[in-house]
Amino acid sequence: MFIIFGWNHETRKNYGPTREIICPNCSNKTYLDLLQTKLWFTLFFIPIFPYKSKHYLICKICSRGLELTDEQVDKALKLNNATGLYLKETINKEQYTKALAESNL
Ligand SMILES: [Zn+2]
Repeated sequence: MFIIFGWNHETRKNYGPTREIICPNCSNKTYLDLLQTKLWFTLFFIPIFPYKSKHYLICKICSRGLELTDEQVDKALKLNNATGLYLKETINKEQYTKALAESNL
């Protein structure tokens, strides 16, 4: 009997718009998306457990971005939440500006 296992099965989760910028790569004004990638150990092609996780802020238009440190991930998750609320008009510009300043991203 063969036991088929593997590494490097990648999954991605896009948390959506996080920080509005003018992209230094493509020069478009856009939101950077917060993206999480996970690498999984697989058994018979079924993902069993993730062994590596990385977070990125990426440009929606050109897909270029930067990898975040653990400390930046916490800030990015908070800002992602605030940006979602702002885009849905649940919080106003003033509240969002405060969240942006606090995020320090
Ligand atoms: Zn870009």
